[in-house]
Amino acid sequence: MQNKRTDLVIIGAGPAGIFTALEMLKKGSRQSITIIEKGLPVEKRRCPKAQTGRCMNCPSCAITTGFSGAGAFSDGKLSLSYEVGGDLPRLIGEDFAQQMINYTDEIYLSFGADPRVEGVSDPIAIKEIRRKAIQAGLKLVDCPIRHLGTEKAQEIYDAIEKYLIQNGVEILFSTECEDLIIKDNHCHGVHVRDKNGEYDIFAKHTVAATGRRGADWLEKICAEHGIAHEPGTVDIGVRVEVRNEIMEHVNNVLYESKLV
Ligand SMILES: Cc1cc2nc3c(=O)[nH]c(=O)nc-3n(C[C@H](O)[C@H](O)[C@H](O)COP(=O)(O)OP(=O)(O)OC[C@H]3O[C@@H](n4cnc5c(N)ncnc54)[C@H](O)[C@@H]3O)c2cc1C
Repeated sequence: MQNKRTDLVIIGAGPAGIFTALEMLKKGSRQSITIIEKGLPVEKRRCPKAQTGRCMNCPSCAITTGFSGAGAFSDGKLSLSYEVGGDLPRLIGEDFAQQMINYTDEIYLSFGADPRVEGVSDPIAIKEIRRKAIQAGLKLVDCPIRHLGTEKAQEIYDAIEKYLIQNGVEILFSTECEDLIIKDNHCHGVHVRDKNGEYDIFAKHTVAATGRRGADWLEKICAEHGIAHEPGTVDIGVRVEVRNEIMEHVNNVLYESKLV
């Protein structure tokens, strides 16, 4: 198959890859951008289990891969506080992390997210819950939430997918990145495979945004090419189910708070 050339190649069309491309467009970049995604466009992501009743071990799972990435079928909750999730505040500082969250939230809004923010409407009740948490030796993490909803989230990602394509971003679906092209300590692009065979995409810049699903692959590729890498942390929570009466008030006021 014929090799290709582009300015920027992004591996993975999950949120990390999508927002990289969006940001380039927003900043008025004239670079040509190609996204490689082993899954399908968001509108074609259908799990056959709904018909067959069992997992069909598809070559690329429609639930976890494709445009919008691993959380496509989640109920789409955006935690709008730097205090929830991930290493970003440690890496870039709490204030800048919060700025980035607000900035990203604005982008979701511009693509049609519900403007309502949950968990912020009753500051007096929140204060009282915080007081009780302190008395119990707990810290209340009261995080504002934007709840997209599963179907709305898909509509938003569909709009983003169309926007990227209309603005010249090339998205190669059902295309898997197999290797990075490394020469003289530089990455010169990627080696990919689709249903017609394998070929190279040469690029000035390469962004690997392969998410949790691609983490093992990325770790292997980094080890093979001697690239320093560090795995991100995984938050593991304990879910304690209690009767509604216990948490009803907290959930009504704070929507999805955390007590730690
Ligand atoms: C069930 C579930 C529910 C969730 N709910 C929420 C929520 O409500 N709110 C929230 O904020 N977060 C939620 N998340 C977390 C959120 O989905 C992830 O944080 C986010 O998807 C990470 O984005 P990413 O772009 O880093 O990776 P991913 O979303 O994993 O995207 C990576 C993409 O890269 C592709 N890829 C990987 N390797 C290759 C390769 N070699 N070649 C080509 N393509 C490749 C994959 O197919 C995938 O589409 C949820 C996650 C899951 C699994």
